[in-house]
Amino acid sequence: CGIVGYVGPNDTVEALLNGLRRLEYRGYDSAGVAVIDAAGGVSVRKKAGKLANLEGVLEVSPLEATGTGIGHTRWATHGGPTDVNAHPHLGDEGRLAVIHNGIVENFAELRDEVTSRGAELESETDTEVVAALLGLEVQETGDLETAFRRVVKRLHGTFTLLAMHQNEPGKVVAARHHSPLVVGVGDGENFLGSDVAAFVSSTRRAIAVDEDNIAVITPDAIRIVDFDGAPVEFEEYEVQWDA
Ligand code: GLU
Repeated sequence: CGIVGYVGPNDTVEALLNGLRRLEYRGYDSAGVAVIDAAGGVSVRKKAGKLANLEGVLEVSPLEATGTGIGHTRWATHGGPTDVNAHPHLGDEGRLAVIHNGIVENFAELRDEVTSRGAELESETDTEVVAALLGLEVQETGDLETAFRRVVKRLHGTFTLLAMHQNEPGKVVAARHHSPLVVGVGDGENFLGSDVAAFVSSTRRAIAVDEDNIAVITPDAIRIVDFDGAPVEFEEYEVQWDA
């Protein structure tokens, strides 16, 4: 339902929570964040209910983030609003994390494929199937972007999809298909959001990602490609409304 991504030197968890707070108006039933932690692995905290519940979990078990993270507020479509079904979901044996807005129509067929290829699923969500498939493709290609392109081409339905992998810290990849995605352009930091509310308190420079495109952000660079990997030109605009 609400999507935030962050790469940069500032407090990653705060950037994600701040974005999620500003997306609360959309409504949601669960919330979660994933970051690259101080040990170089992917760490997740997620909880059913209001953002305050997630904040409670983070107080008890804080995250030591190192500048790469994704955050999600969920509006359940596949599987009830439980802690396990909340996003982010993991793939590649916990080395990558995915968040998703929308519905993957062909998830049952993909679920059969990933389980027959050896993936183990914990949740009832369509999203975890995507995380599992991405993990299998990363294991084959050794590269997050190539794997991500392979996966998005196979999804039917609607998605804004964000992913990060511990082998590629400082990078978040994102794709959209019939669901919105914007990049927030910072100074030595960059953002992703399902709408500009996700980052407008930090930057008013934005890039609208077009249908069936992929954005790749690092702290100092933004690239946009199509689902075949061909570069796409883009332009910044200034967000006008008051935050
Ligand atoms: N279909 C996904 C789920 O049920 C994403 C829902 C959303 O857009 O928040 O987990």
